Amino acid sequence: MNSRTTLSRPGIIAAVAVTMLMALVVGTLVFLGQQSSAVASPPVTREELTEADGVVREEEALSVFDETPAVSNLDPALLEAVRAAAVAAEQDGVPMHVNSGWRSAAYQQVLQQDAVEEYGSAEEAARWVATPENSEHVSGDAVDLGPLPAQDWLAQRGAEFGLCQIYANERWHFELRPAAVANGCPMMYDNPTSDPRTQR
Ligand SMILES: [Zn+2]
Repeated sequence: MNSRTTLSRPGIIAAVAVTMLMALVVGTLVFLGQQSSAVASPPVTREELTEADGVVREEEALSVFDETPAVSNLDPALLEAVRAAAVAAEQDGVPMHVNSGWRSAAYQQVLQQDAVEEYGSAEEAARWVATPENSEHVSGDAVDLGPLPAQDWLAQRGAEFGLCQIYANERWHFELRPAAVANGCPMMYDNPTSDPRTQR
């Protein structure tokens, strides 16, 4: 009898049992891995964030032509519109800069955590700060522009470039609405909680 190719009956049972046990262990590990990544990304602290997350240091007036990730990771069409508007505003003697642009999900998560602390509840925080899942900043489709005179200029002329204020309570937050060039900007939402996109 060749013991390498022929297993005794107890041997076969043991081999099947070991195989089943291993499959169970591997399956459990995969399941737990999926669970932990689905529940929440690990907590991030502000100190861990860098420019690569889209952080804009508050003391700097960031040019719309800068190549830092906060600017360069914006949707190309939005960035093109912002740059064209900034050139036109500059010609009117109104400097424009980026207060915040593209953000990593980790950065948005920190902002959301801060807002929950500041406003006392997730519901109230949602009026001001989106979650990483629904933020237009994380997808690169929103940019916060300043200073105040630039926001006033955009309120007057932003639509010419397809740049629209979306939320009545966020005069700095602009998104691209290409139809605005012909039709003007759509009605604003009172705040992000009235935006169907934040319900998804
Ligand atoms: Zn914004």
